[in-house]
Formats: sequence, structure tokens, C-alpha cells
Amino acid sequence: AGMEHGSAKAGARPSPARPDLSAEQVSIVVPFYNEDALIEPFYTRLKEAVERLGRPYEIIFVDDGSRDRTFELMERLKVDDPTLRLVKLRWNFGQTAALTAGCELAEGEVIVTMDGDLQHDPADLPQFLAKIDEGWDLVSGYRSERAGDPWLTRRLPSAVANWLMARFSGVKLRDFGTTFKAYRRDVIKNVPLYGDFHRFVPALASVYKIAITELPIK
Ligand code: UDP
Ligand code: MG
Repeated sequence: AGMEHGSAKAGARPSPARPDLSAEQVSIVVPFYNEDALIEPFYTRLKEAVERLGRPYEIIFVDDGSRDRTFELMERLKVDDPTLRLVKLRWNFGQTAALTAGCELAEGEVIVTMDGDLQHDPADLPQFLAKIDEGWDLVSGYRSERAGDPWLTRRLPSAVANWLMARFSGVKLRDFGTTFKAYRRDVIKNVPLYGDFHRFVPALASVYKIAITELPIK
């Protein structure tokens, strides 16, 4: 992307010569595990937000081996929605594998990953896409407040992990753990996402010289 090695810090300039993707298709990839209580309200909110984008899109819902009615509800939503594509994993492989399965199918030039339990708000989507349109390769959401999380078991480990990751990767993002992210397609196709590595995408990206920025999310 024409950047010096190690210069892929959040806040660095976007890659100047990146292709303009603002008219290209967007793929929204969402993993679900036993979310039958939340999938319909999430879908309604998501649909509202993507319709307002005014650009082509597809939605990819991945059922990660749910044992409740999640997949049944997905199939029902799909009947009336040609933009919705479904992936059904036979077992519960975990969020990362589910994301990987969905991203492999994605056809959009821009790929957005987010949680389907309403912890990520689809209303934030336009901001993610605006950053991609500025030329960034990867836009990483960060939680501006974690007030609801217990300090010792969630906030402290997260702070330590973020500090270590920033220290050793040279990529200073506030929050590496959030899976609400937007990628240029060539980025997500070239950076390994396996195991728990989705949490380390920014670190991997520094090796691949990718322009990363971050965005406060609700
Ligand atoms: N999820 C999944 N497989 C799993 C666990 C979770 O696909 O084995 C989905 C889940 O339905 C949700 C997203 O991944 O849409 C985030 O999961 P969760 O809310 O458990 O993670 P947290 O909020 O603790 O980061
Ligand atoms: Mg959650």
C-alpha cells in the first residue's frame, strides 16, 4: 500500500492511491450462536441501516451450530430477502471460524464484520464506510466505554492485552478485541484470521503494511 514498514499506526494517513470503492458492493458478515431471541430485532435494525446506505449490499448470516431456532428464523427471513445469504455450520466452531466461513463467501469489495446480539449498532455502519471511502484499508471499532464490564475479569485483561499488542506490533489501537470492523476486500483475503487471530488483526496488518484507523462505537 506504499507505506513504510511499521508506519501503520492508527491516526497515520490513509493509503493515498487506494481504489475508490464508494460505489462498490458491501458485504455485512454476522455470526450467530443461539441468538433466536435477538436475531429478528437485529435484522430489522441492520436492514434499516443498509437500505439507507444507497449502495449495493449483501448480508451474510452464519449460523455457528446453534441448537435453538436461530437457523429456522434465518431461513424465514431469507424467503423475502434476496440480499440475505446463509451459511450453516454443522457444529459450534466459535466466532472466529464462523466469521471466516462468512468472509470466504463474501463478494463485496468492502467487508464489514459485526456481532448479531445487538451489542454492535448497525447505525454505526455509515461511519465505517466513510472511513473506507477516505482510503483506509481497515477500520476497527472500539468501545468508548466499558462501564458495564467488571474491572478485574474484563477491563483489566483487555487493557493489558491492548498494551502488549500496541507495544509489540507498533500499531496503537485502543481496543483490539472488538469484532466490529470494516475491511477492503484484499486486506481480509490476505491476512490470516484463524484461531483467535481476529483479535490480532491490527498486529498482523502492521506486517502487511495496511493503513488502519479506529472509530468509537456505541
Ligand atoms: N458467536 C458465534 N459462535 C460462538 C459464540 C458467539 O458465532 O461460539 C456469535 C454470537 O452469536 C454473537 C457474536 O458471535 O453474534 C459475539 O459473541 P458474544 O456475544 O458471545 O461475544 P462477546 O460479546 O462476549 O464478545
Ligand atoms: Mg455479545
